[in-house]
Amino acid sequence: MSRPLKCRRVSFLPGATYFKPAGIPLRVLEEVRLSVEEAEAMRLKDIEGLEQEQGAERMNISRPTFQRVLASSRRKIADALLNGKAIRIEGGSFEMAFSRFKCLSGHEWGVPFETMISAPPRLCPVCNTPDFMPLHPLGAEESCAQTVLCRRQTKIRTKCRLGGIELMKIAAISEDGITISQHFGRAPLYVVVTVEDGKVVSKETRAKAGHHTFAANQHPDTAPGERHGYDAGAQVRHATMAQSIDDCQVLIAGGMGWGAYDSLKSRNIEPIVTDVETIDEAVKLYLAGNLPNIMERLH
Ligand SMILES: [Zn+2]
Repeated sequence: MSRPLKCRRVSFLPGATYFKPAGIPLRVLEEVRLSVEEAEAMRLKDIEGLEQEQGAERMNISRPTFQRVLASSRRKIADALLNGKAIRIEGGSFEMAFSRFKCLSGHEWGVPFETMISAPPRLCPVCNTPDFMPLHPLGAEESCAQTVLCRRQTKIRTKCRLGGIELMKIAAISEDGITISQHFGRAPLYVVVTVEDGKVVSKETRAKAGHHTFAANQHPDTAPGERHGYDAGAQVRHATMAQSIDDCQVLIAGGMGWGAYDSLKSRNIEPIVTDVETIDEAVKLYLAGNLPNIMERLH
């Protein structure tokens, strides 16, 4: 039986994740895959200029492991450059080291990496509330309108052990408090599940502002294939609807428009569209890293 791989700590996600040589047709193009931790090892050593010992410490791994990950990374890149192969950065086995946080009142603050490891924050330094959440590091939060990108993010989420999380709130839209509703705009309720250290500690129901209005007025007509939720009033509606879950990191829905999807992302709430029926099941899957984002359910 193979031992589960220990997670390597990563504090950066590259923004661009695919590189291809010019002039080589895709069908004959070979590809090398660089894991996120391989990219991180190279970043720490070759860009930040750290010694291997320091790099290993940053990634929470031994020096020989760091050396091995770094060597593998450089070998792959040399192979791609000299033999004309494409490079794809994705997957791996790592955890994110968060370094920025935001409290419920919107105060944001940064924590040096070393402090993050030795003494992760317990209170907001401005208002002393214990209700705060980590913000994703650079690169993880980029706007995501393409399935390709979302697969990458799903993969990243799947592999993440969210280090240093004190508190996490997951919202789901619902009509009955039990099942997940199909339409973000029309659902009357949010069910908000609070998770501490990976365990569900409470569940509450919140009224969702605006659903009467949206249920009565159908969406403005959109041409087939046109993405909806970008019309003049939509941004305001989405903002109103998101207000009561501003403390949540994740929103689970059975379906929603692209406009709502982008709007949630811009508020630092990760939208997930799923075909899972009940909220309990979806939360369980999410916490296990097994709740896929089915982008086809966006309209
Ligand atoms: Zn605060």
